[in-house]
Amino acid sequence: MIFRQYFDSVSCTYTYLLANQSGGEALLIDPVIEHCDRYIQILSELDLKLVKAVDTHVHADHITGLGELRDRTHCVTVMGKKSSADVVSMRVDDGDQITIDGICLDVLYTPGHTDDSCCFKMNDRVFTGDTLLIRGTGRTDFQNGNPRDAYNSLFNKLLKLPDELLVYPGHDYKGETVSTIGEERAFNPRLQVSSADEYAEIMNNLGLPNPKMMDVAVPANMKIGMHQDEPEIVERTLTAQEAVDKLSQSDAIFIDLREDSERAKNGLIPGSVHVPYQRLSEFSRPDGLLAVLSAQTGQQLLLYCAFGERSALALKELRNAGFENLRHLGGGLDAWLQASGPIVSMDKN
Ligand code: FE
Repeated sequence: MIFRQYFDSVSCTYTYLLANQSGGEALLIDPVIEHCDRYIQILSELDLKLVKAVDTHVHADHITGLGELRDRTHCVTVMGKKSSADVVSMRVDDGDQITIDGICLDVLYTPGHTDDSCCFKMNDRVFTGDTLLIRGTGRTDFQNGNPRDAYNSLFNKLLKLPDELLVYPGHDYKGETVSTIGEERAFNPRLQVSSADEYAEIMNNLGLPNPKMMDVAVPANMKIGMHQDEPEIVERTLTAQEAVDKLSQSDAIFIDLREDSERAKNGLIPGSVHVPYQRLSEFSRPDGLLAVLSAQTGQQLLLYCAFGERSALALKELRNAGFENLRHLGGGLDAWLQASGPIVSMDKN
């Protein structure tokens, strides 16, 4: 496995790079916008393809690299379901998994520091964001933070994990890099409490100033959706209602770009053909499924995903590969459901 821990000295943020092997897919957790050049250089040096960029929560002390990395590498952006970010490509909830080739992160929803905070567990380690720090815990006094929720996330989720599990936090202000669950249970001063009330009492009286970057970082981190204003995309974007009409007229082939886990959980548009976004280049070769479908039927290919980002990125890639008759569903399945578009379960398609 390839594992790297990067440090941003301005906000004391840790960013993690994960990959199974050189030549394979990679994932970044909590990238910082100022370091995107560096991440992209490392990815190239290690011969890795960035396929997912994930934030543990909406950060208040730095601007996330998610949007820039998506624009530069066409990776999928991922955040928790409750995140106030305007658009990410994929949203995850407690019990979901974030997967890339050879790597699987289990999502733990751990509100408290913010109401969207998640931790990600993988084999021998857990990435705790700001929920659990080394000998500390994330403050709970803004962004819908709540000390009682934090107590619950810490004591009823993270501290239930095995003692030997490695803890990789979202920040460290003293130069510590890694701890374990057992070590934090025993020595983290914030965890030496006997009730949620006692924890709340500590957290409500920290008297910390707001982070320096907060007024800049939070609004920026809530506006990370892809700009879809290029004519190439605008001209080929359908509203959900237009797409519903296409379905009733059997006027297009619906191409579902989401992953199996999303399809199983949320259902799909009836009759959709599955072309996972991660494997788009393979499906779009001259002898690939998309070229064959388009040539044999002469029908329009209507791309869709969860929120309309992967479909917009795929639209650009397919245009570059020479495909002509393309549209994408603006707002994705989310908009489709709001327009009362029909859905079937995966096993009925
Ligand atoms: Fe934070």
